[in-house]
Amino acid sequence: NKSGKTPRRPPKKPSNNQKDPVGVYCRVRPLGAEDEECCIEVISNTTIQLHAPDGLKANRNGEFKETQYSFKKVFGIKTTQRELFADVAKPLVEDLIHCKNGLLFTYGVTGSGKTYTMTGSPGQGGLLPRSLDMIFNSIGPYQAKRYVFKPDDKNGMEVQNQVDALLDRQKRDSQTSVPKTPTTRRIDPEFADMISPEEACKAGEVDEDSSYSVFVSYIEIYNNYIYDLLEETPFDPIKPKPPQSKILREDQNHNMYVAGCTEVEVKSTEEAFEVFWRGQKKRRIANTQLNRESSRSHSVFIIKLAQAPLDADGDNVLQDKSQVNVSQLCLVDLAGSERTSRTRAEGNRLREAGNINQSLMTLRTCIEVLRENQMCGTNKMVPYRDSKVTHLFKNYFDGEGKVRMVVCVNPKADDYEETLLVMRFAEMTQEVEVARPVDRPICGFAAGRRQRNQSPTVLNQLLQSFHPLPPCEISGPNDDVTLPRLIDALEKRHKIRKLMVEEYNKTANMLKSVLQEQDSNLLSKENFIQEQRGRLGEKDKMIQNQKNEIDRLEKKSKMLEYKIDILQKTTNIYEEDKRSLQHELESREQRLQREMSEKRRMETRMQGIVTDAKLKWEKECERRVNAKQLEMQNKLWVKDEKLKQLKAIVTEGKTENRQPQRPSREKDKVPAKRSVSPSPVPSSLSSLEPIYNFSQTVRPDPHFPRPGSVSVASCISEWEQGVPHSRRQGSQSPPDSRKRAQGLPDSLRRRRGRCWAREVPVQPAEVDLEETGHWVSRTGPLVRPLHRRSHSAGGERWVDHKPTTNVDLDTVLQPNIPNAIKVNAPNEKALSKCDKYVLTHQEFASDGEIQTKLIKGEVFKTRGGGQAVQFTDIETLKQENPVAASRKRRSSETGPDGEPMERNWTNVETRCSVAVEMRAGSNLGPGYQHHGYPKRRKP
Ligand code: ADP
Ligand code: MG
Repeated sequence: NKSGKTPRRPPKKPSNNQKDPVGVYCRVRPLGAEDEECCIEVISNTTIQLHAPDGLKANRNGEFKETQYSFKKVFGIKTTQRELFADVAKPLVEDLIHCKNGLLFTYGVTGSGKTYTMTGSPGQGGLLPRSLDMIFNSIGPYQAKRYVFKPDDKNGMEVQNQVDALLDRQKRDSQTSVPKTPTTRRIDPEFADMISPEEACKAGEVDEDSSYSVFVSYIEIYNNYIYDLLEETPFDPIKPKPPQSKILREDQNHNMYVAGCTEVEVKSTEEAFEVFWRGQKKRRIANTQLNRESSRSHSVFIIKLAQAPLDADGDNVLQDKSQVNVSQLCLVDLAGSERTSRTRAEGNRLREAGNINQSLMTLRTCIEVLRENQMCGTNKMVPYRDSKVTHLFKNYFDGEGKVRMVVCVNPKADDYEETLLVMRFAEMTQEVEVARPVDRPICGFAAGRRQRNQSPTVLNQLLQSFHPLPPCEISGPNDDVTLPRLIDALEKRHKIRKLMVEEYNKTANMLKSVLQEQDSNLLSKENFIQEQRGRLGEKDKMIQNQKNEIDRLEKKSKMLEYKIDILQKTTNIYEEDKRSLQHELESREQRLQREMSEKRRMETRMQGIVTDAKLKWEKECERRVNAKQLEMQNKLWVKDEKLKQLKAIVTEGKTENRQPQRPSREKDKVPAKRSVSPSPVPSSLSSLEPIYNFSQTVRPDPHFPRPGSVSVASCISEWEQGVPHSRRQGSQSPPDSRKRAQGLPDSLRRRRGRCWAREVPVQPAEVDLEETGHWVSRTGPLVRPLHRRSHSAGGERWVDHKPTTNVDLDTVLQPNIPNAIKVNAPNEKALSKCDKYVLTHQEFASDGEIQTKLIKGEVFKTRGGGQAVQFTDIETLKQENPVAASRKRRSSETGPDGEPMERNWTNVETRCSVAVEMRAGSNLGPGYQHHGYPKRRKP
């Protein structure tokens, strides 16, 4: 295989991405005989249905059922050749004329109508003659003269110059007896009337400014050998030479071609047909001679159309090979597609059949691989080279072009199995896509050149009127005919010549004027161009200015960008700072919060501790106070008992001479006046009742700078001594009191005087001293005269007034008044609720003894709505200060005469009744004023 030596080059890439599937058409031929069993039914104009013949159904157990196959178009038995051509081949011919390649092949089992479809029969021209006819109908007037296009031996096409072409033509004329004019036709009856004139077809849009030429080749591929059916071989009747096979080659455009294959330039349909039939005949002869079956060979008829643009004058083909376009249409009548077993061939012929089928098998394989590559994106090698047919058409599949296939089917049942395979292959072939051929580039000349050239001029007409010269052979000296005839002819020619000269001059002048016109046109155009150039210059300047401006702005923008950059960076730094500060702030706040919560926690804890401690201490205090109270009460009780005993003793001794006289009382009482506190008023003085008005709010008397310094104790002691205030101008020491004081021991007198002088700056005109001995307040009227004696507190409500300054005496001898309201200061509200009042008053002696006096009184309502207290009783309790020494206590207990004093002080019987009424703003002496600001005394 010499073609294998051709260096492999990468296949030419199609210049466009558009692809079209292989167009597969199906043609169903009529049954040969009407009684034949039919296995095909045309369902629609795109689908056929195959029925398994009855015999097969039985044999194959129903395996073959009805199967449907769809194609681009299905042509039924009544389809005419013309209809088929219009649908299948006409577009290919149009493409051919427009410089695009096409491949059309018929495929099917033997006898299915492949040859009929491709070639046709007399009166029923097939696709091939119709294609040729259409080509010549389209390009007929624009055909180049013979031998202007000349094929090189590399599948290319050259353009010969006029002279060479003429020489070639003359050579051809001399060699062959081909008639010069096509009018004299000797058409072979075998292919006569293939196409009726009314069925003539013509392509639209043929480029009139191109010259065309048609070349045909006809080859046969038999047993994988290529034979040139148009090759002229000298026929040797004695020893006939066997036909030489041809090889395939690839041209510079990667198209495959049969090297050395005859390409016959044909100028008409008839001529082309003649060539075709010549090939057919040769094929038939060869088949007969070599005992071959024509159905086993593939016949390929190649129509090449060369076209090149006319030159600028429009009368000659442009002498430029690069401008020559060659397109080709291959019409292939494939061998019958049937299995070897079906052939009755034996021996040599069996091998042939196998090979033929092998080439069809290769075609199938190629189509399959192509399809797989395209559908699955694989890149499998397509085995084009495995057979000549596929190799020859390789470029149609991996290059570009339009591929169409007519699947011919014979509906007879005998062909069913073969037809099934054909259908499957045909359907699969439809899935293969082929790149769509691109439009050829347009040459640079103006259109309409041919028309211009062909416009009939006077010159042409004149030229045509040149008659040939008459024979000018003079037969003899007397020949009078020839010479005058020659002279006449020459004269005619001379006249014509003159006419021509005139015409020429006329035309020259016309041309001159036209040229001048053109010149002026040109000038004005040049001026215009100049003008435009000027404008262009202005625009250029403008552009330059604008460019400068743009440069300036660009610089400025760069500067601004730089600034923005710097600002951005600064902002970033600040933001970073801000972030860090915020972070710090947050952390500090968190810390603060933590500390606050810690503080709160500590506070609550401390509060808890404080309350606990407070409660504990309060309880402790209460307990101690209670204990002390109990103790004091016990002591008191003991003393009371003692006193009772004493009282009993005393009462027994004095029953007979007891008089309610004051002096005697004084005497009894005086020795007991050892302590600072005054002793209780004797009961005989019950008529002397000083009354205090006691108002709600006790105001300090403006006359006394220090009202708080006046104590109840001093008042009482004063009262005990019976010192009445002077009614008009108060004398500090009335004679009566002075007289009484004389009886007191010196120490006591000194002491009392001191106290008096210090604590009781008495206002003289404050109190009225009545004759009856009653102390009556001037300002507050007496509610009622009271002569009641104090009695036990059973069932009565008491106000227990204990100033806060009192020392807690840890003794049981304490007054225990049940159901009493305990107050620390005089309380009007408490007084209103009760009818008894007791004031617990403490005094401290210098020897460490504490005298506790219980000053009792009855509460009365005054007319003014206030409360009045009438003091009725004073009980004096004496106790040793717990901190003082026992020695001191003993001395305090005894009077100067060694007698115990308590007896007199605490004698209930000797208590005096005192009625004191106190009221706000009263001018009573300070000694009687009971105010809410007791002087604090340190124990
Ligand atoms: P193939 O080339 O496929 O072996 P042919 O083209 O030689 O088959 O056809 C065999 C016969 O059938 C021929 O005589 C032909 O005239 C006839 N025939 C085929 N197709 C048709 C058709 N569509 N209409 C009429 N006759 C046909
Ligand atoms: Mg055939």
